[in-house]
This record gives sequence, structure tokens and C-alpha cells, in this order.
Amino acid sequence: MKQNKPIIIGLTGTIGSGKSTCSNILKEKFNLPVIDADKIAYQVCEKDNKGLKRIVEEFGDEYLLPNGEYNRSKMSETVFNNPEALEKLNKLLHPIIKEEKERQLNQHKDKNIIIYDCPLLFEANEDSSVDHILLISADEELRAQRLKERNGYNDEELQRRTQAQLSEKEKLSKADSIIFNNGTEEQLEKTLAQFLRNLT
Ligand code: ATP
Repeated sequence: MKQNKPIIIGLTGTIGSGKSTCSNILKEKFNLPVIDADKIAYQVCEKDNKGLKRIVEEFGDEYLLPNGEYNRSKMSETVFNNPEALEKLNKLLHPIIKEEKERQLNQHKDKNIIIYDCPLLFEANEDSSVDHILLISADEELRAQRLKERNGYNDEELQRRTQAQLSEKEKLSKADSIIFNNGTEEQLEKTLAQFLRNLT
């Protein structure tokens, strides 16, 4: 019978580095459980969910659409350039998100490895909540090219989004393992397999 706790791997990286691609490979090809931080943050604010109920209590029911769903664009406008409102929102959602994350982790407590896919692992101070930080990195030009192709970002949009994150240099210095995703997806899969072999 398995006694040890699973190793929680925090998967992170600057936008366009290939985190989601890695996350998919780890889930689909290596059959690992993946917990998605962005998805949790989204889910807790879905209709009738706890996060949305707290938002309505604190911010008012003008943040509900007529069908009872969250008016996300209204909240984006409210918190844009309003750090106090943003802090209030984050504070309110933090315990609810944490509770959901714990619930999901618990569902996989019999596994050896759990992947915690968290784009803002460092920025949200979640790096201390994982056992091993895996950073996906890619050359700046390649990241830019992939994002331009995928999202149609222009240089300005790209810069704005990248600036909101910790610098690549700082991330590199904080990671336990780094995978450089400058090659093909096949190469990435091989490197991930090697990483998992070294871990166990
Ligand atoms: P974001 O944080 O913006 O979601 P991300 O770090 O999750 O980005 P991905 O979505 O995995 O990055 O990758 C960005 C784009 O680059 C996607 O269109 C993906 O298909 C492509 N891509 C990722 N890795 C490779 C690769 N090795 N070769 C070719 N294309 C790749």
C-alpha cells in the first residue's frame, strides 16, 4: 500500500513558453493528474458558485448578468487601474480558490506525482506550496512568434502582458528544474520523459 505523499510539481513559465503544451503532454501521454490554477480561479466564479456569491456580497449584484452569471468584463473594468479593488477581489477569492485546490489535490493523494499548472506561481506566492518547481522556458523571439501566431498579439500587447509577470531571469533563478522548449513538440515530449525519469 502506498504510504508517501505525492510530489507536487508546480509547472510555470512566461506566456508563450509552452506550459499548456507541457501540461497536455503530461496529462495525455504520461497520464499524470493535472490541476489547473487558472481553471480553478474561473470555476469558483461560475454561476451559483461560492466565489461569485462572495463577489455579489462584497461588490453588489450589478456584477451579475441577467442570467445569473458573473459579469467578468464589468469586474475587469472595475479593477483595471484600481489596486484597492483588485486587492479586495483577490483577498475574497483567495481562500475559496485555496479550498478548491486542496479538494482537488486530495482527490489524487494516492498518486506519486501531481502537476500543478500555475502560470503565476511566483507572482501569486504559490511557489512555496509545491515540492518542485518546473519552469518551461523558450527564447524570447520564439515566444513572441508563437503568441503572435496563436493570439494575434502585436508587439505592444505582448510587452504589456509579459511585463505583468516576473522577469524570465528571476524565474530561471528560482526554478528547481528548467526545460527549454526551443525545439519541436516531439523533442519537448522526450525532455519531459527524461525529467520524469530523473525525478523518480
Ligand atoms: P500562455 O501562458 O499564453 O497560455 P503557454 O506558456 O501555455 O502560453 P502554449 O499555449 O503551450 O504556451 O504555447 C504557445 C503556442 O506555441 C501554442 O500555439 C503552441 O501550440 C505553440 N507551441 C508550444 N510549444 C511548441 C513547440 N515546441 N513547437 C511548436 N509550437 C509550439
